[in-house]
Amino acid sequence: MSAIDQVLDKALRGERIELEEGMELLASDEIEKMGHVANQIMLKRHPEPITTFVVGRNVNYTNVCDVYCRFCAFYRAPGSKEGYVLDDEVILNKIQETVDVGGTEILMQGGTNPNLPFTYYTDLLRKIKARFPNITMHSFSPAEIQKMKVVSDGLTLDEVVAQLHEAGLDSLPGGGAEILDDRTRRKISRMKGSWTDWMDVMNSAHRHGMNTTATMVYGLGETIEERALHMIRIRDEQDKVKALGYPSPGFKAFISWPFQPDNTNLKLEKAKPEEYLRIVAASRIMLDNIPNFQSSWVTMGPEMGKLSLSYGCNDFGSTMIEENVVSAAGTTHKVNIELILQLIREAGKVPAQRDTKYNILRMFHETDKADKDFVMQN
Ligand code: SF4
Repeated sequence: MSAIDQVLDKALRGERIELEEGMELLASDEIEKMGHVANQIMLKRHPEPITTFVVGRNVNYTNVCDVYCRFCAFYRAPGSKEGYVLDDEVILNKIQETVDVGGTEILMQGGTNPNLPFTYYTDLLRKIKARFPNITMHSFSPAEIQKMKVVSDGLTLDEVVAQLHEAGLDSLPGGGAEILDDRTRRKISRMKGSWTDWMDVMNSAHRHGMNTTATMVYGLGETIEERALHMIRIRDEQDKVKALGYPSPGFKAFISWPFQPDNTNLKLEKAKPEEYLRIVAASRIMLDNIPNFQSSWVTMGPEMGKLSLSYGCNDFGSTMIEENVVSAAGTTHKVNIELILQLIREAGKVPAQRDTKYNILRMFHETDKADKDFVMQN
């Protein structure tokens, strides 16, 4: 039996894949075989032929940032004429529009703006929750939270996270993980902090009862070993959540996508599409304690998104009404809800709207005439 077959067999028996075995997967050309096993593992967790999606909106509240990641086409340096901070009323209107079309989740993300005091975030969250008590604030990546700690003048990371949670922050998106290894991080975003800075924020969120997601951006010059380490570091934190009885489910989902080199200062080759399927399948196989895997259709395009549903993904992500960070770097695939429903059905699955915690809110059966009304509104 070949080395890769042995690893896949072990995974199918439900045994954990260790670092070197993960590296075998991430270096293998047997992508279809891996996809088959990843799909089997996905089906053990999600036996119903359902693919979920969340109706949500990305609100890029500020583009001012002092981290200067080399791959980022979105940020403007402090003092730039093109820098902005959205007025609170503009943000509240965007949330109102989201609620009006049946949306449940707001992904507020921006730069690490050194000019905003910590009270900006807590006041804004309170204002949002006062007007929209049922909206889920799945907002602020770890780099933004670390910046809040700096501008808070003396609060600890735990105090910052606790105050944000108390003000209305429900859940943290895993943006900015890129590759959780410092060799690569130093090359691409020297000022963003170490991989442990990212993980410390997630660990604090988990200890405070918030759920989170984990991401991975590959194609940043990292080695196969660093890709495998990235996954194992996420898996270790998830183990800790369970073993230490944190009041949180931990990472609810894993999302990966390739680095998009257009319009950035990093001259790296664009990863090939099959690389995406390899990463998706290998991550589903290795991350045995993460329940959900999102397809990155915003970046990969609808057809690849559809294919990923047979390589271990069980979720089609968010409707993403705004996606400025990705689109600034040249990826402009736009998929509306009608197309999401169509693609999920073409992949042989039943679409279902979910909330941020992956509770199903609404099924879209083929015969369900009601989805026409839903689509019309969107
Ligand atoms: S990726 Fe985020 S932290 Fe890095 S420069 Fe862009 S906005 Fe700033």
